[in-house]
Formats: sequence, C-alpha cells, structure tokens
Amino acid sequence: MIYMKKNGQETPVTDLQMFCKCPECGAEIAMNGGELLKLALDFEEGFDFDSSSLFCDSCTMERTRIREQLHNVQTAIDKMPLREAAQLVESLKPYCHEQA
Ligand SMILES: [Zn+2]
Repeated sequence: MIYMKKNGQETPVTDLQMFCKCPECGAEIAMNGGELLKLALDFEEGFDFDSSSLFCDSCTMERTRIREQLHNVQTAIDKMPLREAAQLVESLKPYCHEQA
C-alpha cells in the first residue's frame, strides 16, 4: 500500500486526493493514479509535482482543434508563393523552440 503522511498520520492515496489546475484556463482537475503515472512517464526532462499539470477536457479539445487547423496551414504553405510562406514562418518563430 502506498500512502501519504500528513501531521504524522497515514493518509491513503486515493484518486480523489490528487488535483491540478489546467495551465490554460485554471480549471481544477481531479486526477486519477493512471493519469498521474502517464504524466510522469511522458515527461522527458524529469517529473516533479510543482511544475506538472494536465489540460482540462475543454482546453484539450481546443488544442486538438488548433492542431488540426495547423495541419491545414501546412498544406496551404505548400501552395503559397515562397516569400509569403517565409514571412508566415518568420512570424511564428517567437513561439517555436528549436529541437535539440
Ligand atoms: Zn482548461
């Protein structure tokens, strides 16, 4: 059994005791153990409780919608004049981080 201690008292770890705030909208999200484990395993640079969180369902759906739109933008770039495509890509550079 895995448990937590608070004021010297053993406290069972249950799904209802873990929460995070959506980093986009601040909504409180109840996390279950499986979500916590997946979050820890997906974290490339080391997991820690202070800087980890999940997006809420609404923000996850919106981010998925935006990713789908981005795919359409990629398709449009292939048909754009080179200069316009370069300007568009240049305007996105502040939001892009180079992959190591
Ligand atoms: Zn959200």
